[in-house]
Formats: sequence, structure tokens, C-alpha cells
Amino acid sequence: MGYKYFSYFCEIKCKDTHSLVEKKDSDSKIFLNIMIYSEKNSPEQLRRGSLEVICGSMFSGKTEELIRRLKRAKFAKQRVEIFKPKIDTRYSEDEVVSHDKTSITSTPVESSGSILLMCSEVDVVGIDEAQFFDEGIVDVCTALADQGIRVIVAGLDMDFRGKPFGPMPALMAVAEDVYKTHAICVRCGVLAYVSHRLVQEEKQVLLGEMNEYEPICRDCFNAATEKRFSK
Ligand SMILES: [Zn+2]
Repeated sequence: MGYKYFSYFCEIKCKDTHSLVEKKDSDSKIFLNIMIYSEKNSPEQLRRGSLEVICGSMFSGKTEELIRRLKRAKFAKQRVEIFKPKIDTRYSEDEVVSHDKTSITSTPVESSGSILLMCSEVDVVGIDEAQFFDEGIVDVCTALADQGIRVIVAGLDMDFRGKPFGPMPALMAVAEDVYKTHAICVRCGVLAYVSHRLVQEEKQVLLGEMNEYEPICRDCFNAATEKRFSK
């Protein structure tokens, strides 16, 4: 087991404790054995293959988080390859660029199958905008992880209708670790949940920015879509 276990002791002045904690004596001294798992102390230390998924709505910081993990791996002299679907050329042909303009060089590919061909001699593979890939991306990521590669995938979890987007649900199912990022609802200020489309267009794929999409919460989304459907 490569995960770190931390045992620590704390005194909690409470009358009622939950069954998850082990009561050691009647003075409410409670020992908690907590397994702390974080991406910091697992895949890179173990150097075993794994799949991590970073997902959320637009403007939630998915790509920034992907870039952070990849840059850190590069800094550690790990061999990193980054891919994105050719469809996503909003900012740059050959870079993964976040909304805040942080960037990292990437290879645009037509289909998921191309990724396997370009992944010899690498330690870490990053894939951005994974929702635009074909379903084959799931087998590709699994095959890479099985070969001992750390695979980090970022993508939209839901489309503008609030439905699971492309291969993302399957990727989340087979991943060791899923990290959901959240934007802030632009209408009411709580955590956002979905990317609401502001323009009338029913195609699932419509590349856009702040003029086309807004991150909003569940309540605001329900209110907005009811309005749209009742028109
Ligand atoms: Zn809201």
C-alpha cells in the first residue's frame, strides 16, 4: 500500500459521537484513524499507472487544474505528453490554454486512437476537453494506465442541457480518482453546477466563451430552462 495512513488523536468535548469513530475512554478522547488520500502522495510516488478525471462546468478551473498537475510532473523531469481533440481550437492550435490564459504545449488529434500511437516513452499523459472525444477514449485511457502511465483527463461533465457529456461518465467510472471543479453561479453566487447556453442553438457541440455560456446552479438552471421551454 502506497497510501499514507495518518493516525492522530484529538479530544472532542461532545456528548454524542458517531459510530465511525472509536471511543477509547469515557472522557471523550477519540482516536481517529484517517486514511488521507491525495494526488500528491499516490500516483507520482508509486509510479504506477492510474487514471485521474478532472471535470466540471465551464469556467470552473478544470484546465487550470490539469495544467497545474502536468506542469508539476514536468518540473519533476517526468516525460509528459498532452493531447486535445482537433475540434477545440478556440485559443490555440497546439496548446492547451485555460480561460485565464495559462498554457502548455499539446498535440491536437483527430481521434482517440491516435493517442495510443504517440505515447511511447512517457510517464504522464494529459488529455483536455475529453468530452469531445469518441467513446474509444475510455479504452485508450485504460490501456495507457495498464501500461504504467499516469493519465490525467479533464472535460465537461455535462452538456448545456445538463446531460452527461460524451465519454465523460464512462471515464469517471473507470478512474481511480475523480475531482469535480465548480464555478460560481453568475446569477446567485452559490456553487455552479452546469454550463447554461445563452444562445438558441440545439447542437450539443457549440464552442463558445462567456458570450455563449454562463455557469449557473441547479435552481437557476431549472428556472432558466423552464423559461426557455415555455416560450
Ligand atoms: Zn444560482
